[in-house]
Amino acid sequence: MILRTQVLVVGGGPAGSTAARLLAAHGMDTLLVERDFSFVKPCGGGIPSTVFPEVGIPEKPVRKHVHALRVVSPKGDTLNVKLDGGSIAIVERGDFDHVLRTEAERSGARLLEAEFSRFNDVGRTVTAQLALNQPPHLMTVQADYVIAADGVNSRVKTALNIRPSPSVLTVSEKIKDEESDACEFWFGSSHAPRCYSWVFPQKEGVSAGTGAFGYAEIKSLWQRFLVRRGLKSGGLLRGYRIPLWQGDLYHSGRILFVGDAAGQVMPFTCEGIYYAMKSGEFAAMAVLAGKAEDYKRLWEKRFQKRFSLMKKLWAYFLKGDRRAEKIVQVHKRPEVREMSLALWLRKDLSKESLLPYISIFRRFLG
Ligand SMILES: Cc1cc2nc3c(=O)[nH]c(=O)nc-3n(C[C@H](O)[C@H](O)[C@H](O)COP(=O)(O)OP(=O)(O)OC[C@H]3O[C@@H](n4cnc5c(N)ncnc54)[C@H](O)[C@@H]3O)c2cc1C
Repeated sequence: MILRTQVLVVGGGPAGSTAARLLAAHGMDTLLVERDFSFVKPCGGGIPSTVFPEVGIPEKPVRKHVHALRVVSPKGDTLNVKLDGGSIAIVERGDFDHVLRTEAERSGARLLEAEFSRFNDVGRTVTAQLALNQPPHLMTVQADYVIAADGVNSRVKTALNIRPSPSVLTVSEKIKDEESDACEFWFGSSHAPRCYSWVFPQKEGVSAGTGAFGYAEIKSLWQRFLVRRGLKSGGLLRGYRIPLWQGDLYHSGRILFVGDAAGQVMPFTCEGIYYAMKSGEFAAMAVLAGKAEDYKRLWEKRFQKRFSLMKKLWAYFLKGDRRAEKIVQVHKRPEVREMSLALWLRKDLSKESLLPYISIFRRFLG
């Protein structure tokens, strides 16, 4: 069976659904394939509230608004920040991804539960093979463009012999009997070397986790964080990778890579949902213009400077505990705190916002 479509979107997470919604809304025949409609991605589900109107998605899946941040240094120096002019909206990923796919369908995209397996041909027309759980079990799709939104373990990349992104390994779990009044970020090499551990409030309980570069030791690091934070483990511990941004993958011919498949997670903060949706938007705009190369230009114009800066700050601050202490120290200065919030919470990426931020951190960047 051969299906013909203008755009095949592989992966129904935030990146793929956003791309599919915008393409279909502009009249493109769009097929969105997701291998498992019931998949719940391990994720803190924290999204700055200001993002919802910007990307044009409903707030329906927001389960809770958190109005405070807490940052704890390796020695226990603590910074509490009250959020003004926005909040961190907490979503449950199964629900959130479902709502985004439904929005794509309402705009006219076709949805199909199927797994991308391989390409039969990659030329002016791309021919892809899909596997389905039910008859006809195999399907061939011909498309003018493919948007690869299939996450950090992208099968589309493997099919094209593109190396997987370097990544941080995380373990995380939902803990029902614990609570917190803030999104907490805990630094310290005893439980999160060169990374951080987190506790995010959920509608019920919290979601907590830790990240590390060393795969072998991740479970003992997690145990140490549970002890440090005084948490009782809730049961199902899930491992998942977060890609490290390299800024080297946008498109290969008529195949465009978005979100985690392109490694587009903000260095240091590891925020990925907003950037996944924006990359979906930029890729859709490039496809609508019939110029795949526009995608890189649009992305870099908006995000390149900020991603490069955050990559350098991550390399500096998380080199060891002595430097990680400075994260709290420097953010105790009100003007630094205000600038960080403008960039992170309000996505203010204007030159006026970025330049003073760069000058404050210049002495750390060498
Ligand atoms: C533990 C953890 C906590 C995080 N917390 C946060 C947070 O609080 N806030 C934040 O902003 N970011 C967070 N992130 C990052 C965020 O989860 C990702 O950046 C974001 O989900 C990327 O969206 P995406 O659409 O690119 O990919 P994904 O959300 O990974 O979606 C990819 C989709 O593709 C599907 N798929 C995969 N292979 C195929 C195939 N072969 N065929 C068809 N479909 C396929 C998958 O089933 C999946 O639905 C966290 C990440 C982790 C691991």
